[in-house]
Amino acid sequence: MDRCLTDHSRIGTIRVPFWRADIAMSKVKQAQEATTQAVSADLLQDQSALDDFFMGFALNEARRAQDAGEVPIGAVVVIDKQIVGSGHNQPIRLHDPTAHAEILALREAAQRIGNYRLTNATVYVTIEPCAMCAGAMVNARVQRLVYGAADLRAGGVETVFQICTNSSLNHRVDVISGVQADAGRELMQSFFKQRRKPQPEALSGSTE
Ligand SMILES: [Zn+2]
Repeated sequence: MDRCLTDHSRIGTIRVPFWRADIAMSKVKQAQEATTQAVSADLLQDQSALDDFFMGFALNEARRAQDAGEVPIGAVVVIDKQIVGSGHNQPIRLHDPTAHAEILALREAAQRIGNYRLTNATVYVTIEPCAMCAGAMVNARVQRLVYGAADLRAGGVETVFQICTNSSLNHRVDVISGVQADAGRELMQSFFKQRRKPQPEALSGSTE
């Protein structure tokens, strides 16, 4: 955990992100007043406030994917109220069908703590994980999964498959869903809406 603690200045003390979460924001404001410009996750004691707080970072990761032209899904892995791994979708850029946000975040977390088991970890994801990512969380013995909006087409946790809670597997992940679901869903909807828009060249071509 040494590297994790060493990195505390970068990831444990966190500037207030731009997201809306009513309960969390009142706690963040209290913490902010106590610590001037920065807020520490340690000051957030309420679990739902913590979940909102860390989902804000997953949403920021999703925006990074959007900026890169990838499907906007983001994830962070948290252990002892510290972010030890983060990732956003990059299968196109990395030429890697497994480069989903959750997989990249799990890999970084495992490298950082030096253990392929992430038994005390909570994974925050903006959208319900797919079957592959849900399976990876089971393999990693992740303790909790917190996700935002459901994936009606391919959700691997609750909607289509129930991999994190399947009684045939030797580990079950506690699941919380719906955390900042609107924000995660809006990112996805605007991304696909933009992709469906005709390109300017196509428009000008059709009028000639
Ligand atoms: Zn996935």
